[in-house]
Amino acid sequence: MALSRRGNALFSTVFQRSNLLRGTVLASLLLGVSCQGQGEENTTRYLVENQAEYADIVKNVKPGDTIVLADGNWEDFEILFKGEGEVDNPITLTAQTKGQVFLTGQSNLRLAGEHLVVSGLVFKDGYTPTKEVIAFRQNKENLANNSRVTEIVIDNYNNPERQEVDFWVMMYGQNNRFDHNHLEGKRNKGVTMAVRLNTEESQKNYHRIDHNYFGPRPILGSNGGETLRIGTSHYSRTDSFTTVENNYFDRCDGELEIISNKSGRNEFLGNTFYQSRGTLTMRHGNNNLVEGNVFFGNDADHTGGIRVINAGQTIRNNYMEGLKGTRFGGALVVMNGVPNGPINRYDPVKNASIVNNSLINSDNIQLGAGSDEERSGPPSDSHFVSNLIYNADGRDVFTIYDDMSGIDFKDNVLGSMDPPDFAKGFERKSVTLSRAENGLMYPQSGMDVGVSADISVTTKDMTGTDWYPKAGPLTEFQSGNVIEVTPGEGKIFAAVKTAQPGDTILLGAGDYTASKFIKLDKPLTFKGGGEVNVAFERSTLFEIEDGGSLQLVDIKISGRSAPDNAGNSVIRTSPYSMLENYRIEIINSHFTQMDINHTFNIINTSKNTFADNILIKNSSFSDVSGSILRLNAETDDYGIYNAEYVTIQDSSFKNVKHTIVDYYRGGTDESTFGPHFEMTGSTLSKIGSGKRNKSKSVMRLHGVQVTNISGNRYDETLPMVINHTVGEPKTQITKNVFSGSRAPIVTELNSGLGPTAIIENNVGLGQ
Ligand code: CA
Repeated sequence: MALSRRGNALFSTVFQRSNLLRGTVLASLLLGVSCQGQGEENTTRYLVENQAEYADIVKNVKPGDTIVLADGNWEDFEILFKGEGEVDNPITLTAQTKGQVFLTGQSNLRLAGEHLVVSGLVFKDGYTPTKEVIAFRQNKENLANNSRVTEIVIDNYNNPERQEVDFWVMMYGQNNRFDHNHLEGKRNKGVTMAVRLNTEESQKNYHRIDHNYFGPRPILGSNGGETLRIGTSHYSRTDSFTTVENNYFDRCDGELEIISNKSGRNEFLGNTFYQSRGTLTMRHGNNNLVEGNVFFGNDADHTGGIRVINAGQTIRNNYMEGLKGTRFGGALVVMNGVPNGPINRYDPVKNASIVNNSLINSDNIQLGAGSDEERSGPPSDSHFVSNLIYNADGRDVFTIYDDMSGIDFKDNVLGSMDPPDFAKGFERKSVTLSRAENGLMYPQSGMDVGVSADISVTTKDMTGTDWYPKAGPLTEFQSGNVIEVTPGEGKIFAAVKTAQPGDTILLGAGDYTASKFIKLDKPLTFKGGGEVNVAFERSTLFEIEDGGSLQLVDIKISGRSAPDNAGNSVIRTSPYSMLENYRIEIINSHFTQMDINHTFNIINTSKNTFADNILIKNSSFSDVSGSILRLNAETDDYGIYNAEYVTIQDSSFKNVKHTIVDYYRGGTDESTFGPHFEMTGSTLSKIGSGKRNKSKSVMRLHGVQVTNISGNRYDETLPMVINHTVGEPKTQITKNVFSGSRAPIVTELNSGLGPTAIIENNVGLGQ
């Protein structure tokens, strides 16, 4: 069938007919449409319906040919797209309708050859059987060059084992482009996307990574949650020449590094980082350019900016607003390095140029960060010029860790604080900020500092595809309908089944007994409307499964009907690996008689599960034969832990045999911000004395990074045991009253620091 190039209408007619014919005469669907243009080319467009057809066609494709995958689900399809296109005649693999071709199950895509283009496919409902979903190579010998992957979606395509490592996109070869793709919801371990420089054929690659939507990547709770990495430490003194431009990073919270740059001569231009925890880290490699990027922290915890390491880095015309990150995760961090150190350590900062950046309402600028015996080399031959620093609350943003005479500070304006004393080159001026049309805040005219007026901000809608919706906000508790339930067999279960995420199940006054597990795979609130008493007959009342979160409000729960076995719990996570992080809130609720047999826990977690947040507020717990919070399932010391934030406010605990919390984060890597623990305004009486309480403590906090224990009362409790392991853990124990209770035991294990805990204004210590 010969058609002219202009015969687009005819093309679509042909496709429609092929749809009608589908499933009748297979051979007729193997549709070759030849296109003869004005030139000599004779190209073909193939619509393929199944994997066998694809395998046949791809062997014979010529420059200019297009393979079209028919709409529908393609299960367990490991696509090898191999061919030799030409500059103006690439070979294309695309979808019959963009967004209507789904690669599911154990599918993946490898490209190998020259001038290949792939577009329009969606990976979901499955995970790659290999280490990569998309690889720009067939194997070590056959790479892809001059090729493009565009408008591809990878949506929650995760290995169900949270700690099993795989990668969504691996770029090899040279001159490849990855653009307008949508990558959302990477939840298992392994960087979302990486550029590899492992052979000469992949170095000096001139890849372009642009206009992609990097959607939410939740907190992993261990190392290996980076969103983009370029290079590895092994090849870090090699130049990559990769451009990362106009991408949108939306809540990329996986770990400390959003982007880990580990090679030379890359450019990061005009990207937007929206409420993402961590930093763009110049971890290895020299002579990189970071220009025109915008960071909006929205005042969220651990939102950071740019971390500068190595030689020849230029940090120019970047905008940071509302970044709350501390230490290495600050808005702007210039590290100390190891003089003449090995390739995997921090190289000292030399010839850095940090010019015309705006830091607005951002908490921390750290200079000489990481200074210690090994990292003894401060920055040298560097410039810090015409930056604007403004904080509405007048906060002093600078922390200086070493001699800063190697940085030439000049013409910087401080809008709200007096000049620091470590250097000249800062002037305090009266600054009035107003928000310009591009969304950024600028000072009054005539002030030639900070980012330029014409900086163009990459917005969400400029990235990804226009046919696949981008991630919305997290489902809040009590954000949906109210479903009223009265006591009676099976009524709670029926309500849970029909409820939508965010709904509230309002329990009318009365007594309820659960004869089955209440399994939650969506966020739900259970709220008492009047005096509500709940008992349960199985080993747990609530089980959180993937997607589930639980809020309890105004409910009384008794353990009296639980089976007479050890190890009951009120709430537990799935015993299997969970990809989705969950939340638990217990508010105005009361727990009694949790002592049927031993080791009855209130919340019990399993390995490979992770809570973003556990909150206990205005609640009481009495006669518990286990722990309130058992968050110690990760004992392998791999730096993995079970919950990011645990907060206990204004609650009371009486006669608990084990701990209030056993919170464990082993390992010595510094890749995570958490765990965090806070306990305030609470009373604890007779806690920890059970003979099975191996920790011999009222609470054990091992490897917790941020601890605040303030304004509590401890009567006849065992001591709290706090082990500082890595990083710079911050522990404060203040304004507590201890009566008949032993003093806290804080031990510095691996941090190499002296005692760092602040223990002050407490009453009754030393008894
Ligand atoms: Ca890392």
